[in-house]
Amino acid sequence: MQLVTRAELGWPTSAAPFQATARGVKIHYEGTAVSTALLSDHGACLREWKSIRASHLANTAENYSDVAYNFAACPHGYLMEGRGVGRRTGANGNQSLNAAHYAIVGLVGSEGLTEPTDAMLHAIRDGIELLQAHGAGPEIRGHRDGYATSCPGGPLYAWVQRGAPRPGAAPTIPTPADGTKTITVRAGQTLGAIAAAAGVAMSVILGLNPQVATHPDVIRPGDVIVLPATAEPAPVTPAPTPTTPPAPTTPTVPAPKPTTPTPAPSPAFPGADKFGPGTDNVYVTKLGEMLARRGGGRFYTEGPGPRWSESDRRAVAAFQAAQGWTGTAADGIPGPETWRLLVTGQGRDIPAAAPSKPVPPAMTPFPGNTYFHAGASNRHVTQLGQALVRHGYGTYYKQGPGPRWTEADRRATTAFQRAQGWRGTDANGYPGPETWKRLMR
Ligand SMILES: [Zn+2]
Ligand SMILES: [Zn+2]
Repeated sequence: MQLVTRAELGWPTSAAPFQATARGVKIHYEGTAVSTALLSDHGACLREWKSIRASHLANTAENYSDVAYNFAACPHGYLMEGRGVGRRTGANGNQSLNAAHYAIVGLVGSEGLTEPTDAMLHAIRDGIELLQAHGAGPEIRGHRDGYATSCPGGPLYAWVQRGAPRPGAAPTIPTPADGTKTITVRAGQTLGAIAAAAGVAMSVILGLNPQVATHPDVIRPGDVIVLPATAEPAPVTPAPTPTTPPAPTTPTVPAPKPTTPTPAPSPAFPGADKFGPGTDNVYVTKLGEMLARRGGGRFYTEGPGPRWSESDRRAVAAFQAAQGWTGTAADGIPGPETWRLLVTGQGRDIPAAAPSKPVPPAMTPFPGNTYFHAGASNRHVTQLGQALVRHGYGTYYKQGPGPRWTEADRRATTAFQRAQGWRGTDANGYPGPETWKRLMR
């Protein structure tokens, strides 16, 4: 853990109220535009954190005694102390919410720097574990859980919903020796749906999961449910309706496994929260496959796959435009009508690409530096990588180039910049207008 203490920040001991325990930790983002300059300048991270504290101290409406968060996490993996451990947060919306969870903010926002780096996710995880070692319970939630706010933004919230895993960690599906296994609840799942999909009686699940037995109707994404080891894996098919628990006479043995094959995913629209930046689920794959069959295959340089990409957005937008829709109806995010047309095979296919002359590469303007940073995924990154390959920098890519910004992109760009005779920040691995112009020649 790379901890930056209050003393190192030049701050006095926190005046925030003591609080020794909480149910867990809530994750936040800044909610405003955050400069991508943070990515290349840790000094800017420290200044950002100090300015957040200054703005909180200046907030007379809240009468804050200190920065509202317990910790902040920066793109370089530093965990920066705020109120620290053992202090009540001021960030969760009201006093009862503040008492329930401590608070960590990731230095990302609604514009500019929106996607957390892997290093930032590690730092948030460091903060969670530090708080858990000092009185925080196991819950990991987003600010929006229980409070009307977009915080912590789509990408961070999607990570919270996956259980806030360390990047690169293999998904843990332990199979304990006691004949049980666990699954993690995903958005849209109910206990009844999990029981039905696993071919297990509800009474068995309630018996194995005393933590939910009193409130089986309020399981949440990220909750861990214990199942008999012989149960079928639970697909992410959303529940049709909440299932009523069976009568108490139901024997508490696993029901026989269903002999019919697992049904295809329901044609019902799975919900807008399954799509868009930061989502990663089977519906994104299914969406891409349906789009590819309707003329959208050319939007995919790889995939379709479960992780939402700019290819998905462009293919959806093209399909929506093919229906004659405009504005937000053609924003590239599928709604119920888009989904219905795709599932039923109705509506118009995506037309073939216009046979107009392709824009000469030299004329492609620099799209702006907001597209190139850790966590970014867009067609400009693909275009950059392909240009680097054309210029002889393909050896930096073990795979790709692709839409997702990787260390290979940064290293190849650095090498190209240094080959121009540039040094220092001119060869920082992030393309600017001149790098772009020379690469696109
Ligand atoms: Zn928040
Ligand atoms: Zn930093």
